[in-house]
Amino acid sequence: MNPSTALDACLSGLGRRPRLLIVDDQPSNIRILHELFRLDCDVFMATSGEQGIELCLKQSPDLVILDIVMDGVSGHEVCRRLKADSRTSEVPVIFVTGLTKESDEAYGFEIGAVDFISKPINPVIVNARVRTHLALKLQSDILRSIALRDGLTGVGNRRKFDEDMRAAWWHCKREGAPLSLIMLDVDFFKHYNDRYGHHAGDECLISIAQKIKFGLSRPYDSVARYGGEEFACLLPDTGAEGAARVAEKLLELVRELAIAHADSGASPMVSVSLGVATVVPVEGLDSKALIEAADKQLYKSKHAGRACASSTVIG
Ligand code: GH3
Ligand code: MG
Ligand code: MG
Repeated sequence: MNPSTALDACLSGLGRRPRLLIVDDQPSNIRILHELFRLDCDVFMATSGEQGIELCLKQSPDLVILDIVMDGVSGHEVCRRLKADSRTSEVPVIFVTGLTKESDEAYGFEIGAVDFISKPINPVIVNARVRTHLALKLQSDILRSIALRDGLTGVGNRRKFDEDMRAAWWHCKREGAPLSLIMLDVDFFKHYNDRYGHHAGDECLISIAQKIKFGLSRPYDSVARYGGEEFACLLPDTGAEGAARVAEKLLELVRELAIAHADSGASPMVSVSLGVATVVPVEGLDSKALIEAADKQLYKSKHAGRACASSTVIG
């Protein structure tokens, strides 16, 4: 497949334009590259290494085209810093430079670049290489998102939950901020399947997942399918009061679905039980403690008659 076709195939799966960051201290070079890619990509431009790193963090580009010789922070140093930061380490970097020694090229690959293009720029070569690497990057994004999604409901799967938990724990620990977890389990769901059939059961899980997604409003809130009919909501920077409010909202949203459940022992409609736990992550505690605490509260809700939420704070 030629690079353009591969890229087009990825773009239709991705549903957005690719983002390209160009870092070069000579505006004339930036202009040439911008002209080459502006029709197909969102192009961001930086004229110094510092600005390049800043833009990379802010715009999450799919590819960085990086000059090596620049005043201030060199392209090599920019590449090293991007590779050392977990937020930017996966972004592919292509060096575009007037340096011609083989050792310069080899060093570029050693510090993590994916390709190397010589100046003066040959538009055909730059175009082909950039498109090839963009296609690879977007393909890997698409595969990753499939690997992290639950096939039935479309929300995150267990692996995504583990990743989100690791990131949220790290973030809240660094900020000294609270982290809340809500475990949500459908009540008498075995009876629901027995009465209405497995297909209706699947549809019910899809509707509940959509309601949960709708109910989580902050950009870093996330929901994942934790097990068969159990969902986990992670709420970074959210204390006990906020989490309890979200839990009440989720109870109400599922109630609003008004899905008949004649064999539920808790309500004439499908209902859920919730367990909420909040922690400020500190040394000596780990995320397992938070999951266990939320599980315990979920168990309490089940024993209190279901269709309700129970909360705790640990640590
Ligand atoms: P409780 O109120 O105590 O949670 O009772 P329950 O019946 O919901 O709990 P139990 O763990 O006994 O049963 C869970 C049921 O969820 C059993 C299983 O058939 C159903 N289930 C799990 N995953 C799926 C799924 O993907 N689709 C459907 N339709 N049902 C599922
Ligand atoms: Mg259940
Ligand atoms: Mg269950």
